[in-house]
Amino acid sequence: MTHSPLPALDGEKVAAARLHAIDRFPYLASALFAAPILEADELGRLMVDEWWRIHADPVTVDQLSVPELAGELLHLTGHLLRDHAARARTVGFDEATELHHWVDAADAELVDDLPADLQALAAVHPEDLGCEDGRLAEEYYRRGLPREGMENNCGSGAHGRHAPWEPPPPSDGGEGLERDQQELVRRRVAEDVLRHANEATKGLRRWAQEAVGSQVDWRRELASELRRSISWVSGAVDYSWARPSRRAVALGPVVLPSLRRPVPEVAVVADTSASVSDELLGEAMAEVDGLLRAVGVRDVRVLACDDAVRGVSRVRQVEDITLLGGGGTDMGVGLEAALDHRPRPQVVVVLTDGWSPWPEAPLPGTRVVVGLLGSDPSPPPSWCRTVAIGDAL
Ligand SMILES: [Zn+2]
Repeated sequence: MTHSPLPALDGEKVAAARLHAIDRFPYLASALFAAPILEADELGRLMVDEWWRIHADPVTVDQLSVPELAGELLHLTGHLLRDHAARARTVGFDEATELHHWVDAADAELVDDLPADLQALAAVHPEDLGCEDGRLAEEYYRRGLPREGMENNCGSGAHGRHAPWEPPPPSDGGEGLERDQQELVRRRVAEDVLRHANEATKGLRRWAQEAVGSQVDWRRELASELRRSISWVSGAVDYSWARPSRRAVALGPVVLPSLRRPVPEVAVVADTSASVSDELLGEAMAEVDGLLRAVGVRDVRVLACDDAVRGVSRVRQVEDITLLGGGGTDMGVGLEAALDHRPRPQVVVVLTDGWSPWPEAPLPGTRVVVGLLGSDPSPPPSWCRTVAIGDAL
């Protein structure tokens, strides 16, 4: 088998397939562009290795349509994003007897990520292994029934066992991505998925949430988002007569207005609908309370809200409030109620899993910071500042 960057391979078709995939999944672009596509004669299919190189048999490429080829590229990229190679080593299966079963299990996991028209041609579905969908490869591997006589092999990128025909790894001057570069691409894609979470499949959203959540400290993110919002409010200059300015002293009896940094009015809308766990909400509330105190906001109005506002309290301590609710969810109602109060809040923190109607347009004069709770949240509109809290306490 020989490797060279593209010549006998129909490079234009491969490029068209990659663009087709990116057109459907713009948030996967970083991964699709990061993986070089190499010609691999006599491979009889497309495969991916652990160093993010996609190996394509030119004959196979000729036989597939552009959308079919896009499906193959997306499938192989899925193995890379989900780091099936490293996870295969953790599982530690017997290479001689269980490699194909592991690849089947990994493929079954990927099925959740892609729509039906862009599945790989030989995609293995959870039901092929006698399993329910929505699970991870490890579970399909443990619980799934091996498919007799099927020798599924997507390459070392799917199972971590390197083939003798693979070109040298990047550490030896080969093409592809080293592990730290792979991590960067994964991270970037996960962030892009969360940014486009409205369009992303449930499987990808969950993956992205975990990939980002495991690396980002939501407390730090929330703190910096709140600080930004508070300084945005404080920057709204307020000339008041609260304290005489130094110039007033120089000028004698005439009192000039001084520049005061107002303490912003902040409200918290807490989603108390049944889909949000009380424990998680309590933890997030405590964090918000601590952060607000740290920036000098001591008096916060808290609205407990599901599909209606169930309780409003002006509190000094989050522990003072009772969270009521438990029905459906409409954070729009909560926001409206928060803004109806006087003084009108300039910053509203919403703690929710996001499965709610939202106002369509930004609220004039008010910043909305959303702390997004739970492992499968629905993203709020883009005019909100959003921090993914996930379900990690
Ligand atoms: Zn596969």
